[in-house]
Amino acid sequence: MVLLRPTYVINGDVTDIDLKQLQADGVKGLIFDLDSTLLAPHSGKLTVEVGSWLEFARAHFKVAIVSNNKRMQYMEEVKVLLDMPITIGHAAKPRRKAFMDVLKVFELEPHEVAVIGDRPLTDVLGGQRAGMKTVLVWPLKSQVEPQWVKMMRKLERYVIKP
Ligand SMILES: [Mg+2]
Repeated sequence: MVLLRPTYVINGDVTDIDLKQLQADGVKGLIFDLDSTLLAPHSGKLTVEVGSWLEFARAHFKVAIVSNNKRMQYMEEVKVLLDMPITIGHAAKPRRKAFMDVLKVFELEPHEVAVIGDRPLTDVLGGQRAGMKTVLVWPLKSQVEPQWVKMMRKLERYVIKP
């Protein structure tokens, strides 16, 4: 289960990540999960807080989005909304392929890249399998998240406990 253990566990959402710490640890590229990590589910909108945090991140790191979302129209809109040069949908995380594709574009070593996401079984497992650093964050708040999703999150958190 060591592959499910993130390099960093953030007690907060994506905006609580200490980017200076990541830089100090040699991270030069960031791969973001999309749903619940950068955008609250079903919102299709970027909050001011996440937007300005992302601006700072973009200025200091190479950035990309790797999402399991299969709605290609939505992914196209996101690419424009977030102004992300690399936006990969339908990624089938925890498969490694999309992460390795980004790595080639970044021209970085795996240990110089951090995968940031809210799901241990997709984002963390996939990132660890690719040899990258991983950052587990709490999901952005949503009013409409179904009960079973909350239960799954609790279960996944339980699984990664040392
Ligand atoms: Mg997510």
